[in-house]
Amino acid sequence: MHIDTRCSQAGNRRDPLTGAVSTPIHHATTYAHPALGASTGFDYTRTLNPTRLVLEETIASLHGGARGFAFASGMAAIDALARLFQPGDHVLLSDDLYGGTYRLFEQLLRPLGIDATYVNTSDVRMVAEHLQANTRAVFVETPSNPTLKITDIRTVADLAHRHGAWLIVDNTFMTPYFQRPLELGADIVVESATKYLGGHNDVLAGTLVVRSEDLAEKLYFIQNSVGSVLGPQDAWLLLRGLKTLHVRMDRHEFNARKLADWLNQHPLVSRVYYPGQADHPGREVHALQAGGFGGMISFEVPDAAWVAPLLANLQVITFAESLGGVESLMTYPARQTHADIPESIRQRLGVTDTLLRLSVGLENVDDLITDLNQALQVAVQGVMSHEA
Ligand SMILES: *Cc1c(COP(=O)(O)O)cnc(C)c1O
Repeated sequence: MHIDTRCSQAGNRRDPLTGAVSTPIHHATTYAHPALGASTGFDYTRTLNPTRLVLEETIASLHGGARGFAFASGMAAIDALARLFQPGDHVLLSDDLYGGTYRLFEQLLRPLGIDATYVNTSDVRMVAEHLQANTRAVFVETPSNPTLKITDIRTVADLAHRHGAWLIVDNTFMTPYFQRPLELGADIVVESATKYLGGHNDVLAGTLVVRSEDLAEKLYFIQNSVGSVLGPQDAWLLLRGLKTLHVRMDRHEFNARKLADWLNQHPLVSRVYYPGQADHPGREVHALQAGGFGGMISFEVPDAAWVAPLLANLQVITFAESLGGVESLMTYPARQTHADIPESIRQRLGVTDTLLRLSVGLENVDDLITDLNQALQVAVQGVMSHEA
């Protein structure tokens, strides 16, 4: 069945007792045993919950994986997969990485003896050069956050496997609708479901999907042992979001393409990052491994002094963290998502004081353009009159 159909049908035909089209929310924490030594399959909600299970099977199906797991947040999902590593292990990561992932590896895992190196994984030679004897995994984001660099998933999977390491892909920006890393050779795909999968800026969640039964068993053991599972109410919200994922992603992309083109010719914008643009260095690789360019754009203004007035004058777009919801959001990575990354590294990565990130929502794109245009005009006039 096509992915659109699997999205729309998420949670349907799953409750034989009532025929409910929307999966029931099972709040029960415990389940009666039919007899000594017998089970309905459900015993205790941390171990298995019927609502969470429907979600986990849905996300596994969307990615074409062996099994899916739902966690209380994207970071809880990344923390769970990090428990696959042991002291003495090494992980090679994209240098242009979500700040929270960097913080987890540097401040919580490094003190436990898990080593990490950050390289530009869009250059496969850098990956090959930095694989070590103790490298257990390569962890990439593609497109990366926030400068939207593209990593060749097939080639990096191949390199990792020849080295006996797993490839883990943070697929938050793409979702399974646009990109299915497991089909390209990755072993684990992780998503902050808080973003596009939920899609309405109203649920915190994370998902993992794995390719092999072996990894599924390991991660199920970790999930049940640690217990950072997604609650049933939130699992239902996420299932509801997934039902419209395909429609939302198409519209996010339609709006983003138009906005990126508009920004690109704007005299007050000095640089635009969008993988769909003709001059984006990763465009071809991305087009081969994904079905769309997504809804995230980053751009630079010529002067850091413009940033505060621009953000203050937005009327439709909201100045806020996060991404992937129906409402357009503007983020200032240097001070928000990437504040935990040292200044010198940020400069090298292009996460400068003049960089803004836009999560393009589902509004009418002409209203977004009008809003950005007036905020840019106010920003430049404010700065100029101040200088005069
Ligand atoms: C938001 C985000 C995360 C963390 O997810 P939470 O749900 O906020 O814990 C991880 N990776 C990427 C790319 C993200 O955007």
